[in-house]
Amino acid sequence: MLKRYIPTYHAKSIYDVPIAFLKSINVTTVLVDLDNTLDSYRSKSPSNSALVLKELYDEAGIELIIVSNNTKKRVEPYASKLGVRFIPSIGKPFSKNIKKALKELSLDKDNVIMVGDQTVTDICSANLSGLRSILTDKIVKEDQPTTHFNRLFDRPIRRSLKRKNLLKEVG
Ligand SMILES: [Mg+2]
Repeated sequence: MLKRYIPTYHAKSIYDVPIAFLKSINVTTVLVDLDNTLDSYRSKSPSNSALVLKELYDEAGIELIIVSNNTKKRVEPYASKLGVRFIPSIGKPFSKNIKKALKELSLDKDNVIMVGDQTVTDICSANLSGLRSILTDKIVKEDQPTTHFNRLFDRPIRRSLKRKNLLKEVG
């Protein structure tokens, strides 16, 4: 039961994942969740941190692709301002659309990692897709109302992962 929620790694946020670390584990593509992973769900435009991150990834030859359960209306304006490809309504925790995306974008699983702030959606879908993952903490306290239900599961799962020493820090 817990197994599908175990991330490969944990980091405080995506901004705390060293690029050198990603390179050391052969990552060339980061599939990243948007809300509460890159920015607050209220942020219509990328934060300065997100813009800097994108620049650093570009320099390192790592592509950032947003994979979100949120709508195209939410994701598209943000993603185009950040200058990244994106897939909205991806249907996490299921793996169907992620597998489809890997195929369509010709991505090799061995060079991809998923980053997200929820065990029950982001990490579960990575595991079901056979992808490595990094679980992050929420970057802001406030979640979108639709996420409140997921947190009822996410919180005890995180506690359990911590207690069992299953959160391996990046770096
Ligand atoms: Mg999220």
